[in-house]
Amino acid sequence: MGLITTLETAALVEVEEGTKILSPNIIVTSMDKLINWGRRSSLWPMTFGLACCAIEMMATYASHNDLDRMGIIPRGSPRQSDFMFIAGTVTKKMSQIVRRVYDQMPEPRYVISVGSCADSGGIFNTYSTVQGCDSFLPVDVYIPGCPPRPEAFIDGIIKLQEKIKAEQFHWSRWR
Ligand code: SF4
Repeated sequence: MGLITTLETAALVEVEEGTKILSPNIIVTSMDKLINWGRRSSLWPMTFGLACCAIEMMATYASHNDLDRMGIIPRGSPRQSDFMFIAGTVTKKMSQIVRRVYDQMPEPRYVISVGSCADSGGIFNTYSTVQGCDSFLPVDVYIPGCPPRPEAFIDGIIKLQEKIKAEQFHWSRWR
């Protein structure tokens, strides 16, 4: 009863829709918002590159862009990774390896397709090249360009963060 009275009389400050601050130590929000906030604030990418787009990916990870401030720290193991850039031309031979690396990542896992080659095969309309990595992977975000600049990579990451922010029940057994 005392708690209810306290909550009723407390000054609610709504910082965003569905998240309210009652006092300096009490924040009221939903499980979705809390878990999605944690996930999108510590996205660890799998260190993996395929062709020239991977050079831009390395430049994106370099100090000039300071991705650490966004909680993005590349990992050397799929078992510690949250998402994967498909950066470069995907050959049919290599697609099986890419899929195996993806399968080793824990759920929830995400994929960002980078550049014309990964998005659609690009200029390589040949017998040996996969015409879009979404034919064997569930792609969440597509980044266009040949190659995309680091700013485009960061834009793609922000798009993925927005997608994670809107997820519902992705942590529960009802998902
Ligand atoms: S999109 Fe362009 S830069 Fe990227 S892998 Fe293909 S050819 Fe290379």
